[in-house]
Amino acid sequence: MNTSLHIGSAHSQPGTVAYGTFEAVPLPTGGFDTFPIIIAQGKQGSRPVLWVTGNIHGGEFDGMAVIHRLITPDLVERLTGTLVAIPTLNPAGLRTHERSPYYLYGKDPNRLFPALAGTIDESDATYPSALETAYARLFERIAATADYLIDLHNYGTSSIPFAFRDPVFYRDNREKGIARKLHDRVGAMLQAMGLTVVNEYVSDQYIKLQLHRSVSGAALNTARIPAATVELGGQHIVNVRHVEAALAGIRNVMRWAGMLPDPPEPIRDVPVLDLGYPVRRMQHPRVTEACIVYHLVRPGDRVRRGDPVAQMVDIFGRPVGGGDGLLRTDFDGFVLGLFPNLAHYPNEAVMGLAVRDDSSLLQPLPRL
Ligand SMILES: [Zn+2]
Repeated sequence: MNTSLHIGSAHSQPGTVAYGTFEAVPLPTGGFDTFPIIIAQGKQGSRPVLWVTGNIHGGEFDGMAVIHRLITPDLVERLTGTLVAIPTLNPAGLRTHERSPYYLYGKDPNRLFPALAGTIDESDATYPSALETAYARLFERIAATADYLIDLHNYGTSSIPFAFRDPVFYRDNREKGIARKLHDRVGAMLQAMGLTVVNEYVSDQYIKLQLHRSVSGAALNTARIPAATVELGGQHIVNVRHVEAALAGIRNVMRWAGMLPDPPEPIRDVPVLDLGYPVRRMQHPRVTEACIVYHLVRPGDRVRRGDPVAQMVDIFGRPVGGGDGLLRTDFDGFVLGLFPNLAHYPNEAVMGLAVRDDSSLLQPLPRL
């Protein structure tokens, strides 16, 4: 069956790329901020449907570059099913190169997607904001049409590309079996993608940080659609090697899903790390004094507990904090990315690590 898909003003047609817009936030000056919609549909069948979204953080450009390069006449020629792509979920933030749109007053747009009842703080007087309402309308279309979803981000100036694996929650025993199947499906999807896989924060922190209301968190836990966040390199610039890696990774997911016929392609020119055990993200280590920090490791480096990973010095360049100013990791793992800036206040983290994760990603739903 080759059904036409309608998202906003975009209407898909077999063997073509359709373009349109989705009315998002009404503007006081008239008109709307709109999400650009691209729908590429194969000649054979409209399913499965993969959604790829980017730039919900306005200063993160790699996702848009990936989408612009992914959809080509050649891809459509070979495609089975439908690819729905949104180059920016935050047009206002894109225009000002800021993480949040100016009308969201500093809030994170990637924490505003619909969540299961009981896990949204509705006492917040700003709930629901105009953008939240727009995301809720868009989410209805995602929930009704998507078989898979990938949301594209940028992690940091100096980092490796990787995919975040989110926890899957269940409310009762009946849901547990469904949640386990979904969790396994996400695992298979990420394995097919071929990038480094890093688990999200452990479950209670995950809900507290409202990560279940991120694009991929909501697709996974509210709509029960296999979904993941992909983090690429630095913000405010296009990281070409990371974009290439993400393109290969997304095409690999499409092959795994039966949307492209050819065999998987290798991920080139970026590190892909697998320590043989699951890892999760952690901001570590943290400086013990106000200081200047010099990193001693690079993104993708393996680290072992006790290894020095940074040095703290004072403004004159003299080591501070004892032990020659060396800051050591308390964990085995690898370096995801170095945090920018040299000047730090006490207890600020200096890098993102991936460390051994012994917790389960299948979890009973905590309540707020
Ligand atoms: Zn982001």
